[in-house]
Amino acid sequence: MNNKYELIYEGKAKKVFTHDDEDKVKIEFKDDATAFNALKKEKFEGKGKLNCLISAKIFEFLIKKNIPTHFVGLENENIMIAKKIKVIPLEIVLRNTAYGSLCKQTSIKPGTLLSKPLIDFYLKNDELNDPLITKDRIELMNILSSDDLELIVNLTLNINEILIRFFKNIKLQLVDFKLEFGYDDRNNILLGDEISPDNCRLWDLNQKNDTIVSLDKDRFRKDLGGLIEAYSEIHRRINDFLQTK
Ligand code: UDP
Repeated sequence: MNNKYELIYEGKAKKVFTHDDEDKVKIEFKDDATAFNALKKEKFEGKGKLNCLISAKIFEFLIKKNIPTHFVGLENENIMIAKKIKVIPLEIVLRNTAYGSLCKQTSIKPGTLLSKPLIDFYLKNDELNDPLITKDRIELMNILSSDDLELIVNLTLNINEILIRFFKNIKLQLVDFKLEFGYDDRNNILLGDEISPDNCRLWDLNQKNDTIVSLDKDRFRKDLGGLIEAYSEIHRRINDFLQTK
């Protein structure tokens, strides 16, 4: 990055820099992958670019469906321009199918289709290991008002409806995903962060039997190999689908 731009924040998978416009930021996507609160780490050449391009396409699609997002455009294949937001310290996880931590913490069997979407809130706090928290605790900690929490829940449910159909078109099952939101300078709530195979579970529907083929970060979490191939496949399917529209 041109050193004219100041590094505002460095996370596990992205760096955020200032922009010439006060109300925008430049987000650089890194090749690093982390899991289990960064206990597991690896670099995958090309992952940053793939996540940046995949996220950009998904944000554009959501914007067309009237979802408010921070996405402004791409500077290049690795750098996204976004509206500057004050990030709300919550991870909003929506689950359509039981997997991952839900199955570790309950007796629900992996792969169970949920009769309605389940939303779980996690506090973004590395020291506390991003604990699962309740709606009442969110209000108690003054993180959000109950009205804003309701708005975020409704936005997340809408985004889920849009994304389920989007991914079904490209033969992917949207198992679960994590969103982050923030406030812009006019106090509007915008969808932030990224939407990519790093924070969505996507299973290939091009399988004859019920075998689970993960095309997402589980390839790294579970040492399955082929992460870049899986992300490239998602990118290819998205581009093919959007070209036919
Ligand atoms: N997720 C994420 N960041 C996190 C934790 C989870 O993006 O810090 C995503 C993850 O990729 C999955 C969904 O949220 O799509 C649900 O993850 P889960 O709670 O099952 O946690 P995990 O099994 O990854 O520990």
